[in-house]
Amino acid sequence: MSYDYVRRPIRDGPDIPAPVRPVVDGDRRPTLVEFDDAASFEAMRSVAGEVRTTTDPEPAAYAALTTAEAERVAELPTARTLHFSPGANPFWRLGYYPLGVFPTPERSVDYIDFEEVAAGFDRLAEAFDDRMRVFSAGESAGKYNYVTDRRDPRGVLVVEVAEDVDDREAFAEKKQVLTNCTIHGNERAGGEAAPRFIEGVLRGQYPEVEALLDELALVFTFTNPDGWAARRPQYESLGVPGAPLHERGNLGGDTNRQFPNPGWISPDHTVAEPLGSGLDGETNPPEYVAETTPDALAFVEHCRSYENLVCAIDLHGMLSSKDFVLALDGASQSSSDDLENSFELIDTIGERITANVEEWETAGEALSPVTETASPSAFGLSVVPEQAYNFGTPVETIGYSGTGFVDEWMAFPEELGGLGVPSLTMEMSYSNLVGGNVYDQARVGLQVDGYKGAILGAIDFATRDVTGRVEAGGDVAYVTTDALTRRAEDLGHVDGDGDAVEYDPSGKSTTEETTVPAGGSASVSRAVDARATTLSVNPHVHRSVASARLIAPDGTTVRSFEAGEGRALGGRCCALPTWQVDAQAGEWTVELDNALGTPGDAEVGFTTAAAADAPNPAAELGYEQRDYEVTPLRYFEDLDEDANVAVDAVASGAVDAAALDGYDQLALVHDDVDAGDVDTVESFVRDGGNLVLTDTGLNLLPELVDGIAAEDVTERTAYVGELDEVNDSHPLVTDRRPIQDHLWYIAPVGYSENEAPIYGVDSGAFDDAGGTVAGTTGGDVVVGTLEVGDGQIQLIGSLLPPAEQSNLHPFGMVDYAATYFGHLVMTNALFAEQIREVDGEETRRIGRGSGEDD
Ligand SMILES: [Zn+2]
Repeated sequence: MSYDYVRRPIRDGPDIPAPVRPVVDGDRRPTLVEFDDAASFEAMRSVAGEVRTTTDPEPAAYAALTTAEAERVAELPTARTLHFSPGANPFWRLGYYPLGVFPTPERSVDYIDFEEVAAGFDRLAEAFDDRMRVFSAGESAGKYNYVTDRRDPRGVLVVEVAEDVDDREAFAEKKQVLTNCTIHGNERAGGEAAPRFIEGVLRGQYPEVEALLDELALVFTFTNPDGWAARRPQYESLGVPGAPLHERGNLGGDTNRQFPNPGWISPDHTVAEPLGSGLDGETNPPEYVAETTPDALAFVEHCRSYENLVCAIDLHGMLSSKDFVLALDGASQSSSDDLENSFELIDTIGERITANVEEWETAGEALSPVTETASPSAFGLSVVPEQAYNFGTPVETIGYSGTGFVDEWMAFPEELGGLGVPSLTMEMSYSNLVGGNVYDQARVGLQVDGYKGAILGAIDFATRDVTGRVEAGGDVAYVTTDALTRRAEDLGHVDGDGDAVEYDPSGKSTTEETTVPAGGSASVSRAVDARATTLSVNPHVHRSVASARLIAPDGTTVRSFEAGEGRALGGRCCALPTWQVDAQAGEWTVELDNALGTPGDAEVGFTTAAAADAPNPAAELGYEQRDYEVTPLRYFEDLDEDANVAVDAVASGAVDAAALDGYDQLALVHDDVDAGDVDTVESFVRDGGNLVLTDTGLNLLPELVDGIAAEDVTERTAYVGELDEVNDSHPLVTDRRPIQDHLWYIAPVGYSENEAPIYGVDSGAFDDAGGTVAGTTGGDVVVGTLEVGDGQIQLIGSLLPPAEQSNLHPFGMVDYAATYFGHLVMTNALFAEQIREVDGEETRRIGRGSGEDD
């Protein structure tokens, strides 16, 4: 759909009295009426009450009308045309921009409309053609239009802002900062903030940003146009014809599960890899992907064309939170240097956001009427956020893990299809279908300020040169083994003869729908036959707040998720996890509890797979397997690059006194060693060495420590590699932030949820052996220290597992996926410090260090 509009000069200044009240609710449609003369405004007022009028460029009046009112207005003899007119500026369809192209939220009558933003960007690009370009990177599948009986594809808009933006050679050399604004259509904060920020830069409101445009290029992407445009009467939205709501995803489902990330990929999601089914850049993507998620394909392909990206942020909204804005550091393979870059990005954004902290608090008070509809207090969360800003991993902040997230895709290495830059998911409170997306000027104003801060923080980061390094307490040896290496060629379906495998999803995936009553529960079921070996379940509620349980055929609850347990509600973004379980034949049930005061629609996707060992992605997803060879020992190669001490490999079976001569510390992340190795390791410790044992390395404890027997070493699998309890007085968790307890990301190394191996020691035996406890999981000691002879053993029972190949992982694997906290515990275990330098100056130093002055 397109509209002609009259091109007018863009002016600044409040011709319309401000603020105006928001006008859109479920029964009224924003309507623009063109009149023959201004004298007719009174007649319209008598029908519609509050009316906004203009005589420039022609007499027109705007109001939110019921159907009956619209009919009466249409009967006025001087009324020429009536337009459905969604958007922030009531007169944008006339090309009339008295308050600028994108008025401030306080002066806007509604959320910025998709067509309005497209027309507005065209205006700005014309007025500022040396600094701004707007174009479409591709098209969406389109919402189904009940009036025209076809789909309406819309463009994936990209805006670039830089000095001499049409000089493409110069552009390619500038540092590029990517802000992805609208991946979830029902989370409006990013789509409200970015257009206003862009206009502000062009109009000189940010001189410090303008001054950077010679060296920086700002890229803004507006993905998921369908979710944005869903709020129109010609579409059904959330299953309801004419419902005035934005939608989260596109035709292929949740737009933030569609990215081709290395590691575990849930078959419940549609994954967009523009390299095609052969991952070769020559084949086409699977047909079902091309048909349902062409927008994601276009976005991925376009982003890969930027050669000098330095950071990326992805703007979301959550329902409610203890923190007004959250930054989520997503999974990747991150060295110390990479992590310090990610956390500098977190900090530069945090500085900008907390600069407005008083404004948050004042405005938070005013939000109470809005947030009461979501009853965050029912979950023990305060109505007003407790603090402006917090950050952590997704598990630490919003309580779950998943696959196919865009911020993680941006962070993964380029050779694995990612963008290879520090990237964050940003979450904004009260920006997820709150009040059915009713426009609230004060709340949106606050969110716009918050996300302008996030964009400025990303720009700040781009101007800095950040390095991370490690100063350790002595040279480190680590024991290598091939037993930890995982290769694509080990997979049964990879035989190297290039046989194509047909994608056949028939009958394996079903989606069950239900409506969960207000404050009540509902359930859906799916029969699973005896041939299935795994069952993937993807519960999804449109209204964002639900708890869920998965019940096996024998009646046991095998998975559960409590909406109120984390720090946030409705984050990332329907707030429900994806589950994968070993299938049993029989009836599987998902129960959902609705915490809202209104009924909510829910969908639950069930997908079964039958595979002897590892499922074949060509058959399950339509993508060939990417080749890989990975080992968690790569952690130490990367540490060697970043550390001031030697970090050297010693081969398993060759660990003798000569090999360890000169080393103060020894790391053993596995138990693939022989008796001679173990004897040497024991002498090393007793003679005063520092031994770091991780993962299966804990199996060696009975041979190294008196009083710990084989049965005292425990192995469990957990949701993720995480500690339940942390003792903050222990040196191994020196400088931990209170939110941190998550040691490594599961999906990038192939693990689905509830498969994370955690090794520990029975706490009684550990106590008897004189150990000190830093952290436990399930009551067993997972992080702690034992004194042995003159030396010490540091335990980290879950940090560097070998890649898991039994789940779908078409896009390869990473070697390791330690979180910031996981790195911190290892840093402390090595008596080391993690140091950040910004523009050559040391700005941060964490970790216990060697205890020596330096
Ligand atoms: Zn979201």
